[in-house]
Amino acid sequence: MQTELQKKNNAHHFQPFSDNKTLAEKGPRVITKAEGVYFYDSEGNKFLDGMAGLWCVNIGYGRKELADAAQQQMSELPYYNLFFQTTTTPATELAAKIASLAPVHMNKVFFTGSGSEANDTNFRMVRRYWDLKGKPEKKMFISRKNAYHGSTVAAASLGGMGYMHEQGDLPIDGIVHIDQPYWFVEGGDLTPEEFGIKAAQSLEEKILEIGEENIGAFIAEPFQGAGGVIIPPSTYWPEIKRILAKYDILFILDEVISGFGRTGEWFAAQTFDLKPDLITIAKGLSSGYIPIGGVIVSDKVAEVLIEEGGDFNHGFTYSGHPVAANVALTNINLLDSEGIVDQVKAKTAPYLQQRWQELADHPIVGEARGLGMVAAIELVGNKITRERLEPETKGGGVCRDYAVSNGLVMRPCGDTMIISPPLVISEKEIDELIAKAKLTLDQTAAHYG
Ligand code: PLP
Repeated sequence: MQTELQKKNNAHHFQPFSDNKTLAEKGPRVITKAEGVYFYDSEGNKFLDGMAGLWCVNIGYGRKELADAAQQQMSELPYYNLFFQTTTTPATELAAKIASLAPVHMNKVFFTGSGSEANDTNFRMVRRYWDLKGKPEKKMFISRKNAYHGSTVAAASLGGMGYMHEQGDLPIDGIVHIDQPYWFVEGGDLTPEEFGIKAAQSLEEKILEIGEENIGAFIAEPFQGAGGVIIPPSTYWPEIKRILAKYDILFILDEVISGFGRTGEWFAAQTFDLKPDLITIAKGLSSGYIPIGGVIVSDKVAEVLIEEGGDFNHGFTYSGHPVAANVALTNINLLDSEGIVDQVKAKTAPYLQQRWQELADHPIVGEARGLGMVAAIELVGNKITRERLEPETKGGGVCRDYAVSNGLVMRPCGDTMIISPPLVISEKEIDELIAKAKLTLDQTAAHYG
């Protein structure tokens, strides 16, 4: 029996990344309130949010300081734009704060409303950069299969998700995709280290195939998030760095998930010792409390775009929206002053990863992996051969449903289960998460007999 709200939703609400027909038959779960690492639905069920919403509620739910920051800014200056040589105090202060935390060679921030808009901004910035450098033929982008960079036309094209490309004739021209560093699925007989080198070298092969003179940039997530928390083997990034140093192409690091503490550093560029030319940010920037994203621009790129570029004919009505900027600034200041990122690195992430490894012993788990405050398990029917539970790709959905019935949100990604909890999760809450995950795995195993 569906409630009035569910019926209204079915009649009028067309929802993202959902089969809206099936959704209407079941009626959506209605989320009503949240606190800390928990949220509640309209039926009074309580869930431990193992995904921090969509990888974004880094600071946890219910921080009144963020509500106060929004209210104060709403009253003082609810809106003004950043076009045509104006700024607002929160937008400027936020840019300066982000620059103070970013790698030292990155000192400017361009604001957008989301991660997707930020990657579309990267697309335009890279092409503008090479035009200004007198190399307009450097237009191509190299990305990776199974990457996620957003849902707008350029961002979805930069992404490597086949199921997205199938809809709307994507990718657009000028984007090619190389192999991903997904050892568990694609590593075959190679060791992770050997496979990491091989996967990285597909970048060099593609550069040589297309010609350095035609390539504008390489874009990558430090670890693939939506693709299944795919953490590259230890050899991957050093080899990519070697290749990037050899060729004159820009490097875009998409830190929409990894930024603002998720790896235990402010940015994964620091975790993996990378030197990107552009960093994409969103999500944890405001802990998801309000929409905001952006691009952190290196001095190298800024010098060309700003010193030589004149007007940059790009921007959004809500670029650096003052209320969003004030909320984001308050969020980052709290993450900083309360030592939340440091605590992730020193204490809670090592604890989560140590306990997560216990899941590797489970009969239907082929691998347990993680980094900082993200982790994944691979569901299998056979631990040795890595054959999946039958039918393939459906195991995650079964496991997710058991998790939900146990009051835990874990996300399925084919046969992979992933987590990315709020950074404020305590050791006690981690124990609860692991206990619920173990119970869920037992139930999933029993389901398959
Ligand atoms: N880039 C990455 C790595 C993401 O994970 C996402 C969203 O999940 C995006 C970009 C797109 O961000 P948004 O949904 O804010 O447009």
